[in-house]
Amino acid sequence: MQECLFCKIISGEIPADIILDKKNILAFKDINPQAPVHILIIPKIHISTLNDIDAINSDIIGDLVKTASEIAKIKGIDRSGYRTVFNCNHDGGQTVFHIHLHLIGGRLLSWPPG
Ligand code: AMP
Ligand code: ZN
Repeated sequence: MQECLFCKIISGEIPADIILDKKNILAFKDINPQAPVHILIIPKIHISTLNDIDAINSDIIGDLVKTASEIAKIKGIDRSGYRTVFNCNHDGGQTVFHIHLHLIGGRLLSWPPG
């Protein structure tokens, strides 16, 4: 999608600190990290929100989660622990409308979130 920030990162139009580049998935550092490890994992196809997941594209969710656990191992936070989050729409705090899985860790995270 032409005006989507994350599609522009996928195409290389906007730079990002890439962590992992797979066939269907890209992972890069969040520009405003909330923890020592804060990585965004996105599908290379444009899907706006979790509400747009359907029977045809739902496999990508498992791929995103699996990639998050792989990166957690690479970053050495798999044993200490981490959080994965999809924000959806206004009340969920979504600001970029191309689905992304936040991988957050490297410190003790509080619960519940604000
Ligand atoms: P959300 O609020 O769940 O939609 O998350 C969007 C995330 O994208 C935020 O944590 C932002 O800090 C992050 N972000 C925004 N622009 C960029 C960018 N150019 N590169 C990397 N991360 C970004
Ligand atoms: Zn997009």
